[in-house]
Amino acid sequence: MTMELNKFDSWIKDRIKNEEIVKYQDKGKDFIPEQEIISKLELNSKKEPDPLRIKDILLKSLAIQTLTPDETAVLLNVRDSNMLEEMRQAALAVKKKVYDNRIVTFAPLYLNNLCVNNCMYCGFRKDNKTIKRKILSLEEVKKEVEVLAGKIGHKRLIVVYGEAPDTDIEYIRKTIETIYGVKVKTKNGWGQIRRVNVNAPALSIKELKILQEAGIGTYQVFQETYHHGTYDKVHPKGTIKNNYQWRLYCMHRAFEAGIDDVGIGVLFGLYDWKFEVMSLLYHTRELEQRFNIGPHTISFPRLEPAFDSPFTQNSKYKVSDEDFKRLITVIRLAIPYAGMIITARENAQIKKEAIPLGCTQTDASTRIGIGAYSERYDEQEKKRQQFLLGDTRNLDEVIGELSQMGFITSFCTAGYRCGRTGKYIMELLRSGKEGKFCKLNAVLTFREWIDDFAAEETKTAAENIINKEIEEIKKVSPDIFSTFIDYYERIKQGERDLYL
Ligand code: SF4
Repeated sequence: MTMELNKFDSWIKDRIKNEEIVKYQDKGKDFIPEQEIISKLELNSKKEPDPLRIKDILLKSLAIQTLTPDETAVLLNVRDSNMLEEMRQAALAVKKKVYDNRIVTFAPLYLNNLCVNNCMYCGFRKDNKTIKRKILSLEEVKKEVEVLAGKIGHKRLIVVYGEAPDTDIEYIRKTIETIYGVKVKTKNGWGQIRRVNVNAPALSIKELKILQEAGIGTYQVFQETYHHGTYDKVHPKGTIKNNYQWRLYCMHRAFEAGIDDVGIGVLFGLYDWKFEVMSLLYHTRELEQRFNIGPHTISFPRLEPAFDSPFTQNSKYKVSDEDFKRLITVIRLAIPYAGMIITARENAQIKKEAIPLGCTQTDASTRIGIGAYSERYDEQEKKRQQFLLGDTRNLDEVIGELSQMGFITSFCTAGYRCGRTGKYIMELLRSGKEGKFCKLNAVLTFREWIDDFAAEETKTAAENIINKEIEEIKKVSPDIFSTFIDYYERIKQGERDLYL
């Protein structure tokens, strides 16, 4: 037992490479200037912002330019209902310009719930004795993917790992390889996961190179809170995660390791939401300035109850539904090119209201227990979860609703497989040109899903959307229409994974 403990402790001690932090700092300082952020927010909170100034800022967002901290602080302090409505309309227009009416769907896949950290808001924290611990074997990973790709129809996953010696980079690499290797027969074709995004601990450059070679989509790490004092409080001392700087610079290390597609985020409810939105912007601008690439996605989960984690009930910074919608609007306007992920933490009604404000991705048929897609899922199994879900609807129901709302669900994963990543994707997104490929691939992949998985009622609503999209493609992209329609017909005959 003592030997085990020593092994554990030395693993923790060697995780953080200080030289992979200081090399990015500016004379020992990081890029979250807390006092500056607080001053900008205070300055703008004293009076209602000038409508002309707001209009100028919105024009900049509509030109798909990242806003400055001052401009973002102005938007965060708008209270006038007419101005708020103008902001919402602008956010919608920005979303349409960059991503059109597409929503990408994915599923989270939790591979283990062992963790050496002790984050106060998380059901997986090491001191939570009520949770049943489990690490999926490669065979169990395969079973999970067979359900996700073969029975539900997902093509894209976010794979989630806790931080522990038994789930180190070698485990991560092998599980990703296993996921990509699963191919399942479906009603009219076959199903496969084509993009594995990874939500993992902050890794070293050496480990990130292994992740890059494994062919991941997005590397996602949330800072949780950018406020130094709060970060320290909710991530107890002596844990790896207590090191704010190690986490803050993990995207710098990712870029250095050759990963050029990253996702950042905040767990809203730990600290003041306006401060966190400003910090997301500072993080974005730092990445843009240093690497010419901003975050591909931004996530904004709200603190949710977790088993045996009383902190989640008592935070004084809990974000109301109204403020949640405001923060989505401001992020969409401040970082106009970024994909925005709303998850099943939120209930169906809030998702319905929030998606039109600028969200681009959502999960469905979500299960966050370990092994919960392929195993029995009951109250006991829920104890293997990190938090409690707000939306437990299946993918078919979610797609049915999105179709009624006028959104086309995209299962496209072509972008990164055709090299449309990094600086290239940034340019395409900013210029609105990515949409051209995405619309075509959205229709092709949606056709696959409808033919393999849709219930009759969903099929009708989905086909209405598809037919409208095909008419638009005919008008907007006559140069590639014949290739597109040839692919579309071949998919109807059972071919799969054709993309442009
Ligand atoms: S939030 Fe992540 S790092 Fe913290 S205890 Fe949970 S799984 Fe571990």
